[in-house]
Amino acid sequence: MKVEVAVDGKNSKATRNPTMSHYRFALTILLLVSVSLVGCNRVSAAHGETIPDLPSATALPTETETQTPLPTLTSTATLTSTVTLTLTPTLTPTPTWAVQGPGKVVCPILLYHHIGTASSPAASSYYTSPEDFEAQMKALRDWGYTSITISQLVEAIMSSALLPDRPVVITFDDGNLNVYTNAFPIMQKYGFTGVMYIIANRLHADGYMGIDQIKEMAAAGWEVGSHSMTHADLREAHDRLNFEIAQSRINLQEALGVPVRSFAYPYGAMDEVVGKQVQSYGYTSAVGLGTLWNQSLYNLYYLSRRPADGGVDLQVFASYLPWPGAENLTPPPADAPTP
Ligand SMILES: [Zn+2]
Repeated sequence: MKVEVAVDGKNSKATRNPTMSHYRFALTILLLVSVSLVGCNRVSAAHGETIPDLPSATALPTETETQTPLPTLTSTATLTSTVTLTLTPTLTPTPTWAVQGPGKVVCPILLYHHIGTASSPAASSYYTSPEDFEAQMKALRDWGYTSITISQLVEAIMSSALLPDRPVVITFDDGNLNVYTNAFPIMQKYGFTGVMYIIANRLHADGYMGIDQIKEMAAAGWEVGSHSMTHADLREAHDRLNFEIAQSRINLQEALGVPVRSFAYPYGAMDEVVGKQVQSYGYTSAVGLGTLWNQSLYNLYYLSRRPADGGVDLQVFASYLPWPGAENLTPPPADAPTP
């Protein structure tokens, strides 16, 4: 009844003063519209405040830090960082990335051949059991190491690059099948990627990795390098260096669809002629054998790699590294003596 009375009253006022009525009507509409707009704003503001809070505030900066190096990497290396990213919460401590180079960079390079059980005692020096290998990878993670590719190291030496505070390059020579079956899953478990130096004419041989397996690892962030065409001692193969060094690179790139930028001398053996050819055929680095941790322009075509085969215990393994143990995260002075 009261409503009717009010309506009647409005109607009666409307008949008395139509202009006033139009103003009131317009005012009412404006009020209604503004109320509903304010309401919408509040709702969306409420959503706006709630949604960004959902991911934990502490997780976001970590992701940003870990992803910082991405722009400087190749597309395959992007995947490397993704793997690291998912494992970041379990890492102790979280690696800090900072610009290193150009020039000398302290970075151990480890060399393995087989991750498996040797078929004969004579071959055992080239084998590391999966158990020993896992213990070594776990130690690297616990001691704060972050794997990088050889190309990331070279970029830092040549022009500077973002590197983790304890970088390590984990390399495998020859392309043995047990690197795919044993090393690859263990390294994925601990958030590491490696560099595999492949003998180009053994891509399909028994006991060696095939194209699909190498492609799968490359897609997960591993780098592919050339380990020559036939694994010849190149000091005695000067007449076919083009075939061993240049053609192997062309074949690997065509078969695998990935860039091949680094070369590993078979047996770590080279001379001045071989080194110059590797450089002139377009490789940006080459790896040899050695115990240095300092990598620089001076050894860019014979980067120092420490063989870690043979199932060494963790104490010996720690001696291969410049920053053993998790207590001290400060890198050694740049001029620290290396073994
Ligand atoms: Zn080899």
